[in-house]
Amino acid sequence: MNTPLSSIVRKQIARFGPLPVSEYMALCLLHPKHGYYTTQDAIGRSGDFTTAPEISQMFGELLGLSLAQSWMDQGCPAPFLLAELGPGNGTLMADILRATRNIPAFHKSAQITLVEASTEMQKRQTETLKKYDVTWYQNFSELPQHPIFLIANEFFDCMPIRQFRRTENGWQEQMVGCENDKLHFMLGKATSLESFNLASDEPLNDIVEVSSASVSFTQAIAQHIAVTGGAAIVVDYGNWISDGDTLQAVLKHQKVDVLSYCGQADLTAHVNFNDLHIAASKFAKVSAMTSQGMLLEHLGITARAQALATQLSGAALKNHIAAHRRLTHPDEMGALFKAIAIVPLRENLPAGFSE
Ligand code: SAH
Repeated sequence: MNTPLSSIVRKQIARFGPLPVSEYMALCLLHPKHGYYTTQDAIGRSGDFTTAPEISQMFGELLGLSLAQSWMDQGCPAPFLLAELGPGNGTLMADILRATRNIPAFHKSAQITLVEASTEMQKRQTETLKKYDVTWYQNFSELPQHPIFLIANEFFDCMPIRQFRRTENGWQEQMVGCENDKLHFMLGKATSLESFNLASDEPLNDIVEVSSASVSFTQAIAQHIAVTGGAAIVVDYGNWISDGDTLQAVLKHQKVDVLSYCGQADLTAHVNFNDLHIAASKFAKVSAMTSQGMLLEHLGITARAQALATQLSGAALKNHIAAHRRLTHPDEMGALFKAIAIVPLRENLPAGFSE
């Protein structure tokens, strides 16, 4: 399909040659004028995909309380950054703030800090969080050096990835090329194994995905936490290893062709939690990976769901029961979504996580 961004992508390929998947992804998601997060009503029922905080307030409440407990465990540092990466509509941060409102010192010491690349998404967050004093940053590296208690939900899945395929000629990078005005995948030059840590025994034709942006973000978070104190909770869909070719495009809750809706469909890939774990472990303590279902169970979602259910009836009660199932059941988000936590080496992990 011809979109304003697809002609820009085609021109770029005509001038500079085929693009690595990472550059294609970055253009599609964050092009300042035509990028997906700059132009589309992305998240929620009317958008293209729904995230856990949009499904139920319980998600943000439980994770917010886990972060607040961690803040108390670390001696209630003040001031501190209550930070979120990629806050979408701002719903998760709003739920965290509501759930912690009875801990006045937490609210008083918190500098609400959002890292958001899209000015359009910033506008939505401003609206959702209008009661609060919020500071935005475009890059993590700009954050002040205060202790940081951070959450990132469905942030790492939109970090650009590169894809490598093992062929008879060794590893080759998958690129986006263009022929007769149509974008297509093609194999680029052979690539050395060492620079990307690719295994030599990977079966022929397998694809491995590598996200150096995710690794850099994780290192920066872990370094910040190691120096100032704090905790980070990362939740996303993915696995302990690369899951093969996981690049996907989603438009109006349906999967669509990855190259056909430049700037109009969401583009994501599974998160490789082993890579995040290795990156963060250089500086800080990292929890074992847990599933979203297990994490929410450990944080008491069933009791919270029952408490909320007593105030509901009819369709609202039915929706609430469905939302609880959707967040936790292994056939829904419970098993596909995973979480890890990062704290300084000397500190305990947040509630819900173990080593
Ligand atoms: N966390 C939210 C939504 C995740 S969607 C939720 O749970 O509902 C991804 C978010 O990350 C969007 O707000 C998008 O604009 C932002 N984003 C994408 N790439 C980014 C980058 N490189 N730096 C900062 N924010 C980014």
